[in-house]
Amino acid sequence: MAKACLYCNKDLEGRVDKKFCTSYCKSSYHYQKNKESEDSLFQKIDRHLKTNRRLLKEYNKAGLATVRKEKLINNGFNPTYFTHYWKNKEDKVYLFCYEYGFLDIKDKYVLVTWQKYMDR
Ligand SMILES: [Zn+2]
Repeated sequence: MAKACLYCNKDLEGRVDKKFCTSYCKSSYHYQKNKESEDSLFQKIDRHLKTNRRLLKEYNKAGLATVRKEKLINNGFNPTYFTHYWKNKEDKVYLFCYEYGFLDIKDKYVLVTWQKYMDR
């Protein structure tokens, strides 16, 4: 049975290990592959950010709260993903997922919401 080009599906002739009919098909194929994995990385990060935001919002109904880390993390919170940060006068760094932020203190997170004065 003849093998087909991975990009355009045309029957391949010649060498058994050939995968593409032309170098054009080869580069198009790799371009598309790259683009797909780029998209899926984008979607993965996007998902993490949205989950984080939802949890920060959920646990921060009063505008300021302290929660045990494991409570958030067990619900799918992933502190590696955040959109930006704010540093206060004492050089403490609050990480934000959109308008909801958290400060890491030992086994807890202090939850805050984004304030106008942080925007500078
Ligand atoms: Zn081809």
